[in-house]
Amino acid sequence: MREPTARTESTKLPARGESADESFAHLVDGFRRFRTEVYPEQQALFARLAKAQQPRAMFITCADSRIVPELITQSSPGDLFVTRNVGNVVPPYGQMNGGVSSAIEYAVMALNVQHIIVCGHSDCGAMKAVLNPGGLQRMPTVKAWLRHCEVARSLVEENCNCTAGDALGVLTEENVVAQLDHLRTHPSVASRLAGGQLSIHGWVYCIETSEILAYDANQGRFAPLDGDGPSPVATPAPRYLQA
Ligand SMILES: [Zn+2]
Repeated sequence: MREPTARTESTKLPARGESADESFAHLVDGFRRFRTEVYPEQQALFARLAKAQQPRAMFITCADSRIVPELITQSSPGDLFVTRNVGNVVPPYGQMNGGVSSAIEYAVMALNVQHIIVCGHSDCGAMKAVLNPGGLQRMPTVKAWLRHCEVARSLVEENCNCTAGDALGVLTEENVVAQLDHLRTHPSVASRLAGGQLSIHGWVYCIETSEILAYDANQGRFAPLDGDGPSPVATPAPRYLQA
């Protein structure tokens, strides 16, 4: 039988400085606090949510642990229908019948969400990998997935005289615009956009400053989400407004 201490030593995570057992214990402790302290205070909310959901928006963002959609929008359980993946990618319709496409169709057709937000972020590992794909040799699945960002990479390379310092930020914004374009290829989305029943939004969240820049399709640029005046709009004009 192995010494327990030996196992703890071998599973130590250098980045965080805690063992695998300590990491997991932290999660279970958190769950205990949730059950004993948080849940009793919000029992009415959870009782209501037990039967149905009516989310305010679908939120598509990166899997990055530093992006917490509910925190940055101060939302409660039941408010956001969240889909996350490496690089906040939306595969174009027809290329993949995967999780993102299914979630979009379900959010629009079954839940009737009125907003879909695609949210990128600063210091994104996926965007860094798109700029420097050499590090992906041992990650063939990630490499294949990030082909959905190729349109943004090539657009930046051919149009932007970016310095090395600017490239990541510009690519992160262009990737959000590209994924909004992909989003519009989904029939459920295109149909509701044409009918004026759905709005789409492209955001980039800055981890360090808490700022969110939102895509303004009319101006072709990103502007602060919480600036003076109306919020930037990425939604195309509807062509079949419902009476
Ligand atoms: Zn990311």
